Amino acid sequence: MDFQLTKEETLSLKQDFKIFLTEFMKNDLTKLVDRNLSSLIIDFMKFASFFESKKVGNTTVTELLLSRPKYIISLLEDVLNEVGTELGVSKRLHVRFFNLPVSTLKKIRDIRSSDIGKFLTIEGIIRRASQVKVIEIRRTLQCPICGYTLTIEFGKESPRICPGCRKRIRFLVLDKEVVDIQRLIVEDSFENLEGYEQPSRIPVILKDDLTDPQIVKKFAPGTKVKIYGFVDLLPTKRRSTEYGFILEANNIEPIEQTYEEIEITKEDEEKILKLASDPNIYEKLKRSIAPALYGYDKIKEALVLQLFGGVKKIKPDGSVSRGDIHILLIGDPGVGKSAILLSFSKIAPKARYVSAKGATAVGLTASVVRDEMLGTWAVEAGVLVLANKGFAVVDEIDKMSKEDRAAMHSAMEQQIITVDKANVHATLKAETTILAAANPKYGRFDPEKPIADQIDLPPTLLNRFDLIFSIRDVPDIKKDKEIAKHILKGHKSPEEIKPEIPPDLLKKYISYARTRVKPKLTEEAKEEILNFYVNLRKKAAGTPDAPIPISPRQLEALIRLAEASAKIQLREYVTREDAQRAIDLFKYFLRTMAYDPELGQIDIDRVMTQTPKSRRDKIKIVKNIITQLAKSPDYSDGVPFSEILKEFKNYEPADKSDDEVRGELEEIIKLLSKNGEIYSPSFGKYLPTI
Ligand SMILES: [Zn+2]
Repeated sequence: MDFQLTKEETLSLKQDFKIFLTEFMKNDLTKLVDRNLSSLIIDFMKFASFFESKKVGNTTVTELLLSRPKYIISLLEDVLNEVGTELGVSKRLHVRFFNLPVSTLKKIRDIRSSDIGKFLTIEGIIRRASQVKVIEIRRTLQCPICGYTLTIEFGKESPRICPGCRKRIRFLVLDKEVVDIQRLIVEDSFENLEGYEQPSRIPVILKDDLTDPQIVKKFAPGTKVKIYGFVDLLPTKRRSTEYGFILEANNIEPIEQTYEEIEITKEDEEKILKLASDPNIYEKLKRSIAPALYGYDKIKEALVLQLFGGVKKIKPDGSVSRGDIHILLIGDPGVGKSAILLSFSKIAPKARYVSAKGATAVGLTASVVRDEMLGTWAVEAGVLVLANKGFAVVDEIDKMSKEDRAAMHSAMEQQIITVDKANVHATLKAETTILAAANPKYGRFDPEKPIADQIDLPPTLLNRFDLIFSIRDVPDIKKDKEIAKHILKGHKSPEEIKPEIPPDLLKKYISYARTRVKPKLTEEAKEEILNFYVNLRKKAAGTPDAPIPISPRQLEALIRLAEASAKIQLREYVTREDAQRAIDLFKYFLRTMAYDPELGQIDIDRVMTQTPKSRRDKIKIVKNIITQLAKSPDYSDGVPFSEILKEFKNYEPADKSDDEVRGELEEIIKLLSKNGEIYSPSFGKYLPTI
């Protein structure tokens, strides 16, 4: 920057600065000295009101601060340090500003070369935060012959010839000035993005007291921030002519993250109250999700409840029970699954859509990466962290990385993600509602088989979803006719399948309910839910070794669903009807996912573990058959498969085809061999191990 003020201008400006600091900012200055702080934080508006229309040359001081911030701030800092020395402060003091005018606010993606050097305000989410590193900024050198001293900025080469004695010498290093530095990557927060637009990013440099441990802790990845600073250019590679932007932070402050970031006017509020009191609101909401997609009534209802969510509770022991409702959709390829995900991510406030598939995919939780500029480690936030206090719509969740799988349990339940790797430790918040989709392992979903056998996710993770649905493509003549009619209607007059509630208003409605309503269970609602829960448990208790139909985890899910139902009507209490709505949905989930057709019982093991009750029984039967037959001297070298099959058929329903029975037996034998309960002394023959 070749910008320069004249000597007189500088002198007069410095005098004004001194008055500003010692008189106008007197209280702040006293606080700075008393508390041994390193920075004087100045409200820009206060600065502007002090200088009003005072001019230097033909620009005002205030304009100068905005157009030449580095220059003006360094002048201010010079004066501050002179004043500081007089007050007995020995360390270097900084001037930091906040509350800059709205005109300085820039979206990261809108930053251009014309912004270089100007004072800007940016808002975004910290995607990545490096470790703090100490770097040299300048060194003082001395000539060993004549004693000439000079200061060299870091990165500049020192002269070969001494300017003092004109001799070719090697300078001695007298002093090194170092500074603590941290690099962040900040990206546009996604409520400003359209559809699936990729957010733009900018590296941000924090120096000196901005890297104090107390401050660093406040700015973990996932935090929404406002940064005041100056944009500079940085070559993308060494000696490259291509440049990227870098922001040097003058000041940084966190922005509280809530659903309330979505602005709701008085007029909006009236519309919301009207919607909430509409007797048909539940139906209307359902019809607003993927309106072009016919059917899926229960699934849509579940998604509506998910949008509104339950109530987060802090238990007496300090542990937290989440209010967010997680839902998993398992779908055959080529069905309405994607339509549902897309529609949902348009309606849900603060929603991020991501596919967990592919090498370029962003992580879901968090990872430790190399900061290429500082050469340190950095923590990078995944989608669940970036979508904190919002929604993550995750397609192909079964394809997520190994690291994500490990971190996912606490991300879904405690809603925190801890990073502990390569000497980097961080705890990140992920209060995020998850709507996930997965593909069946073998192409098509088979309702006869346990879910855990069919998708590539561990039962412990499946367990953390409140509801799991399969979206199946089952031929059904009556339904097909309805779908065809619905599609034709859409073609004839598209407005007929427009969502009943415009997405913008719906978003506001949801954030309104999520932030302002915290319904409590009434006695009737409690009774309703407990009765349902206890009855299911009782069914299991009657028979020894019965499947466990339902666990306390599911009880919490029921309560969340009932609370969500109350939030829709902006009620502070959960009624019996809310509880009934939650129970009906839960029954639907159990019927489609956890019902064991062979036992005629609901078996949550079908959802959460590899082996349902009926299968466990059959394993015992097959083991018995082999053990009994092996006692015969005919089979001392092993029981042939065909003999086992003959016996096994007696235990299978008569209407089951031979192929099916054979297939099932093969699977059981495989499992028994894998578990080491039987072995095969020769091909096609089996003996028990004990
Ligand atoms: Zn010299």
